[in-house]
Amino acid sequence: CGVIGYIGTNATPEFFYNGLKRLEYRGYDSAGIAMMNSDGVFIQRAEGKLNNLQKKLSKLPENTKIGIGHTRWATHGKPTENNAHPHRSENIILLHNGIIENYKPLKTFLIKKGYEFQSETDTEVAAHLLNYEYKQLSQEKNNFERMKKAIFSLVSQIHGAFAFGIMCTDVSDTLYVVKYGSPVVLGLGKNENYMASGITALVEHTRSIIIMEDKEIAFLKSDKIILTDFSGNEIERKPIQISWST
Ligand code: GLU
Repeated sequence: CGVIGYIGTNATPEFFYNGLKRLEYRGYDSAGIAMMNSDGVFIQRAEGKLNNLQKKLSKLPENTKIGIGHTRWATHGKPTENNAHPHRSENIILLHNGIIENYKPLKTFLIKKGYEFQSETDTEVAAHLLNYEYKQLSQEKNNFERMKKAIFSLVSQIHGAFAFGIMCTDVSDTLYVVKYGSPVVLGLGKNENYMASGITALVEHTRSIIIMEDKEIAFLKSDKIILTDFSGNEIERKPIQISWST
């Protein structure tokens, strides 16, 4: 329901927590944060209110260059810790706002391919399908391009509404963001960039905002943002400057 993402020089667990706190008004039933650094991927999730997640922040790294956070409003699967986002499928860590309408046939396909599901969510289907597509592209030596192509195939197969924040352990300098139906804004900072489901989560960090439109994918690096449509055509969009106070 609420999402926050960061790439840059230094984000603490509190950064993600505070961003989610700012988005709390949207309602949610569970929450989670994933942070990635050279030691690996660290995921903490909790059922219920954000203070349950707050108790686990000390289990996360003190800071990282990339991470994502989520508050979930369950559509498929109970509001449990296990169903809370982010979800992981090997190298892929993904969170999702919205609904994947055709998750059932995709789940059947993925189970046939040997994927084991850890949750009851529609979202986990997207994580595994992206992993599957990524593996199909093993001939692509550039992992950034490989992820990009895998995301294009993912979005061509799923229907519904989705805002995704995606990390890949092979491409730790990129935060991938997908928007269709659910709101996503991007924030531009100095050697750091942000994504969130609402501007309120970002205004304390930056006032320079790009509002994503449907059928767009953003590739966030610490020093730039590349925006494309679902066919890979690059889109030029100047950020707007937010003047209102919060
Ligand atoms: N459909 C997803 C789930 O139930 C995401 C819900 C949301 O937007 O928070 O896990």
